[in-house]
Amino acid sequence: MGKKLTILIISFITTIALIGCSGSEGSERDRPLVVATTTIITDIAEEIAGDRVEVHGIMPIGGDPHIYQPVPGDARMIAQSDLVLLNGLQLEGWLSELARHAGGTRPMISVADGVSALEDEERHGEPDPHAWFDVRNMHIYVDNIVRGLVKVDPDGEEEYVQRADEYKKKLDELDTWVREQIETLPEDRRILITSHDAFRYFGEAYGVKVMALQGISTEAQPQTKDVIKLVQTIREHTIPAVFIETSVNPRMLEQIARDAGARIGGELFSDSIGAPGHEGGSYLGMVRYNVRTFVEAMKEDPITQK
Ligand SMILES: [Zn+2]
Repeated sequence: MGKKLTILIISFITTIALIGCSGSEGSERDRPLVVATTTIITDIAEEIAGDRVEVHGIMPIGGDPHIYQPVPGDARMIAQSDLVLLNGLQLEGWLSELARHAGGTRPMISVADGVSALEDEERHGEPDPHAWFDVRNMHIYVDNIVRGLVKVDPDGEEEYVQRADEYKKKLDELDTWVREQIETLPEDRRILITSHDAFRYFGEAYGVKVMALQGISTEAQPQTKDVIKLVQTIREHTIPAVFIETSVNPRMLEQIARDAGARIGGELFSDSIGAPGHEGGSYLGMVRYNVRTFVEAMKEDPITQK
């Protein structure tokens, strides 16, 4: 735990190299088009962009960015874009091929560029992409988004910086609130068990021990030894609740909860925000919703062991 490595993500800011006049479709728009990969990045980019820039998200709400299968419309959208915003830290393995299908290289910015990345404990040398669950990291995301927006619309700089400053204030308030919430839990209840290991940055930042059925990517199948270890941990520490995720199949974790005698404490947003209208329908809201769900369920008495 806590092993950090600073990874300099390659900011692939490459010059547009579209052949012929295929960029002409873009000129029909009166605003620049920015394409963002995950729903989290899309939400924040929209907050900062206002209506000066059209922001289009690739991932659907509730989609899993580790195993996303691009659709033909994605390549078309990227081909017409002025900029692509991605998380980076090896989250979007499918993007490079998609960009190739889009017929040329687009300018791209990894919004996690500059984050002090945690290392994947199972695959050494690979970064853990879920940097968004340390709310302080989002200052870096916001700055990178502003950098990208200014590139495609230099006249909007003042507006973007102003909106970014306002958003950062909300981030700081949220960060403080999360700390206060976690402190209301007894220390031995600060354990978060989830389907996949998306919450290590959260754990590091807010003093919560995190355990997951799957590693940091949902691509790999859970190992039997990990299942056994989780059941044992839940029993040993009489953990009242474990948490499924909106973007991951819950079946296996539900089985574990039954076997170990724990409740499903709720559904957390891990790699996607929630639907519009839901409290979790924005980045700020999803963090708030997750923390409240976690803290409330962990305050409940454990199910009495059979
Ligand atoms: Zn994930």
